[in-house]
This record gives sequence, C-alpha cells and structure tokens, in this order.
Amino acid sequence: MMDGSPNDLSHVVEADRAHIWHHLMQHKPFETNDPRIIVEGKGMRVWDQGGKEHLDAVSGAVWTVNVGYGRERIAKAVYDQLMKMNYFAGSMGSIPGALFAEKLVEKMPGMSRVYYCNSGSEANEKAFKMVRQIAHKRFGGKKHKILYRDRDYHGTTIGCLSAGGQDERNAQYGPFAPGFVRVPHCLEYRAFEQEGAPEENYGEWAASQIEKVILAEGPETVGALCLEPVTAGGGVIVPPEGYWQKVREICDKYEILLHIDEVVCGVGRTGTWFGYQHYGIEPDFVTMAKGVASGYAAIACLVTNEKVFELFKDDDTDPLNYFRDISTFGGCTAGPAAAIENMAIIEEEGLLENTTKMGDYMLDQLQALADRHEVIGNVRGKGLFLGAELVADRGTREPMAEAKVQAVVKDCMAQGVIIGATNRSVPGKNNTLCYSPALIATKDDIDQIIAATEGALGRVFG
Ligand code: PMP
Repeated sequence: MMDGSPNDLSHVVEADRAHIWHHLMQHKPFETNDPRIIVEGKGMRVWDQGGKEHLDAVSGAVWTVNVGYGRERIAKAVYDQLMKMNYFAGSMGSIPGALFAEKLVEKMPGMSRVYYCNSGSEANEKAFKMVRQIAHKRFGGKKHKILYRDRDYHGTTIGCLSAGGQDERNAQYGPFAPGFVRVPHCLEYRAFEQEGAPEENYGEWAASQIEKVILAEGPETVGALCLEPVTAGGGVIVPPEGYWQKVREICDKYEILLHIDEVVCGVGRTGTWFGYQHYGIEPDFVTMAKGVASGYAAIACLVTNEKVFELFKDDDTDPLNYFRDISTFGGCTAGPAAAIENMAIIEEEGLLENTTKMGDYMLDQLQALADRHEVIGNVRGKGLFLGAELVADRGTREPMAEAKVQAVVKDCMAQGVIIGATNRSVPGKNNTLCYSPALIATKDDIDQIIAATEGALGRVFG
C-alpha cells in the first residue's frame, strides 16, 4: 500500500523513543533498536516506518480490528457525526447512541439495556458495581462476592485485576479489592494438572468445581460469576462440551448473576455475534469493547437484561435507587457512529459466515501443522480466534520455555507476519501462539500465516 516515497519519519521515531511509554514493554531494547511505528493499514495489512509490509494475524495486536484497516465508510460516518454533534454526557442521549443500542440488542435476544463507556476494563468495573449495588439494595450487602476463573482476564484496573486469573499480570500490583473469589479453569488439555479431574465428561466436572466454590463460600454471599466465553489472553481456551449449560444451571440454582466478558469474543470474532451464543444460554450482563467499533473509535458497552435494569428503578422514593455512575467519554458520539457502520459491514459482507468458514480452515491447517511438528501439543479455537500450545515434551505436556515461544513470534515478525503469544497463570510459562486475523481473512492470508509459523518453528526448533 505504501508507495515507497521517501517520507522521512526519523523525527517521529526519535520522539517516540524519547517520550512514549509503550504498553506491555520493557524499554531497555529501545536503547539499541528503533521502536516500530505503524504508519498505514489497509485490509489485513499494515506498513511500518521503513515501508515494510506486515500481514496482521492479531487484528491490531489485541483482537480488535475485526473489519480490517482503511474502512472509509466508518471514517466518514464518524466525521459526519463529529461535525454534527461530537459530545454530550450525563443524562442526555445521542442519535447514534440510541440507534446503535437498538441494533445491538437486536443481536442479543433476552438483553435490552446498553450502558456506554470507553474500555473493556471500565465496562467490567461497571458490572461489578451493579452487582455490589444489587447486593446492598436486596440482600443487606451480603450477596456481594464476585467469582472469576483461573486464567481469565477482565482488565487492567485494580478492581479488574482483583478478578484477574493470570497471576503474572497481578504480581506486584496488590493489595487487591476484597470480595473476589477464584474458580478453576476449564482447559481440558491441562485437566491432568487438576486434582480429581475425570477422563470423561470433563465439561460437567469443570463446571461443578464452580459449584463447589459457591458452597464453600456460602451461596448467600455470592452475587455474580464473571467468565470469558472463550478465554483469550489466558491461552485461547474453548470451554469443553456441556460446560456452559451447567454453568447457567448453577447460577439459576443459587440466584447468581451471570456476567459474560465478551471484550474479545464480542461482535463476530468466533463466528457468532457473541461467543456465548454458541452455547444456547442467556447471560445477565455482557461486556464488550474491542470489536464493537474495530478500533476506529474508543467504545465499550455494558449490556444487561431487563431483570437487572428493573432492580434499579422500582423504588423512586429512594434517592439512591439508581446506578450512581458516569463515564465521561461514554458521551462521545464517535464510538456508536463507528459501531453502527462496523456492524453493517459485518452483515453486508457476510463476515460471520466467513469467520466460521475461514476459522474451520485455519483450525485444520493448525492441526496439520501439529501433525508435522512435535512442539505443538494442542491446537484449539472457535472462528477466527485460535491458539497453538507449544510443549517441550508431548508426553508430560511440559510447557515450552517462554523465550522459545517468543522466538517463534519474533521470527514470524521478521517474515512480515504478526502473530501473538498468550498468558497463563504461571509466570514464565506463556506458551500458546495466538491467532486472531480480521474477519475478512481469505484462504491465501491464512496460508501465509501458517507458512510463516512453519518456517519459524523450523528455525527455532530445528
Ligand atoms: N476483558 C478481556 C477478556 C480482555 O481481553 C481485555 C483486554 N485485553 C479486557 C477485558 C480489558 O479491556 P481494555 O483493555 O479495553 O480495558
């Protein structure tokens, strides 16, 4: 895409080196290496300051740019909206805000109310606050505990880290907020590390471990269960057969609200509008962010059903009987304006269907790669959201050393293909390669991603 014209960006690189505190990064390497600046993007590809082309297999590093780069239609809708009315917050509404909410809940049978804010973490915090408020309003403050799962991630704030199942991300940021309780993960490939896990019906057993925690804590103290539909950063964990149905049953049994964190899976990533829709269940809260507007504007949503909403409006004589919360940038109109177009693109271009088709193809290709390379112990995925877990030994399933996993990622980058590696609970054991190309991916794109991975595996492991 870049025309190779001599567009000298050395000043930008120096400004970045001198003043940017990059996310997720140790900065020592920048003393000898240049930071990479992404200058331009079109479709599945981006170009850096040197004009090098990269095939982006992770949708903007963190599963975000679902409809791909350079969508003029979204940019234009945002421009038009900003010129008309860019912002108003508090209790006032906006045209795109109302219209996107209407479109969104159409895709989510059983859900009805949309609360706008601007990041996945913030949306999750809002849900946690609602759970706490319901506990105060209805249960004398008692039913306030929030359960979260080992290996899941819900955001970067202290509240979200308190519900964070990845110890490596939490280390050094405590103390955390009280009232968050961990339940075990549901990764069948690592079931052998869990005491008492059966060879059969693992899904039911993994869900029953949640019930065990509820009973130990006292069901009268547990207000909500917060889970990712398919765990993202914790290693692309697709829940086993029977798991989700049992989870819903358990929540109903103990009057526990089910909060599904769709920040990654939401808006098409797994081939359905939302990840939970693969499992025939209905949640009470859904949070979403990344793919809602594919990164064209910052927007996040907390969506609830009417049952939750009604709890906040039934007694208008109580001055505290409403959700005492605001998000300043929840009043930006660029987000919903972009989100309307983003959703229309997914519908008009048949991107859910493409995601399912290309996701199945990619899973087959990764499986074939595993057949050729001992170091791939397990492949898993749903739609265009896939992982390949690397092991040092297929028999013991000892995780591959993280440095080697990173070497694979780095080798792919050198070949012009950007892939990722995910986290797990155990520091230094991040061993799953991660793929989440835009929902427009073609067979040729996937072949290029697989070929780059195979080349990297060959070089790193010989
Ligand atoms: N939930 C999940 C499942 C996530 O993966 C993330 C971010 N990676 C978040 C929440 C937090 O979102 P944000 O970075 O927008 O705050």
